[in-house]
Amino acid sequence: MINMNENHISKNIEKIRQNINLACKESGRKADDIIILGVTKTIDAEDIKKAVDEGIYHLGENRVQEFLEKEDKIDNVKWHIIGHLQTNKVKYIIGKTFLIHSVESIKLAKEIDRLSSQKGITTDVLIEVNVSGEESKYGIRCEDIDSFLDEIDKFNAVKVKGFMTMAPKDAADNEIRQIFRKLYKIYVDISQKKYNNISMEYLSMGMSSDYELAILEGANIVRVGSAMFKQ
Ligand SMILES: *Cc1c(COP(=O)(O)O)cnc(C)c1O
Repeated sequence: MINMNENHISKNIEKIRQNINLACKESGRKADDIIILGVTKTIDAEDIKKAVDEGIYHLGENRVQEFLEKEDKIDNVKWHIIGHLQTNKVKYIIGKTFLIHSVESIKLAKEIDRLSSQKGITTDVLIEVNVSGEESKYGIRCEDIDSFLDEIDKFNAVKVKGFMTMAPKDAADNEIRQIFRKLYKIYVDISQKKYNNISMEYLSMGMSSDYELAILEGANIVRVGSAMFKQ
């Protein structure tokens, strides 16, 4: 089939899909099970729509202000908040997200719970985990996951659906894979435990530089920005 909308974004997406297919083949997984989340920070609505035209229906923003500006202009997509979220900004986004990837404090979870129940809705979230333990990173430590989940399980309007992590920027492939593998193992362990408001459905790992590695290690959401929108 000839694609009449040939542009750099559609070419980038085709390449990303090919790479994902290869990683799925190598790890015995199905490409249909992987959500490609287009990360649209700094990208304008016109270019974002080109990605949507290529079947990218999940979009991620890391800043609330930018999210609110774009959320109005683009229809029929599911929005994810992936960046650090301040508690005082929750009120602007509640009810507008498919998934918030960056819950890493009980204070934040509590505010999401409070505003969700006020609206009579539930909000799906991921817990951000700082697997590598870098000081500069947001996220809870692996050793704190159990107690964190016990605490957050008490909030009925917040539903935990899995974990998100970021690998260190310039680490070697095998180091990155170990980080992803560690979180996947915890994800599987937790999925076998009984909670009220917690289920393990999404594992959000991998960005432009390491999404193939993340898929090899069990990610089912990859957050791809620059590789999708670069010229
Ligand atoms: C920007 C960002 C991404 C995407 O980064 P790229 O390297 O451009 O793919 C993924 N996750 C988070 C949390 C981000 O802030």
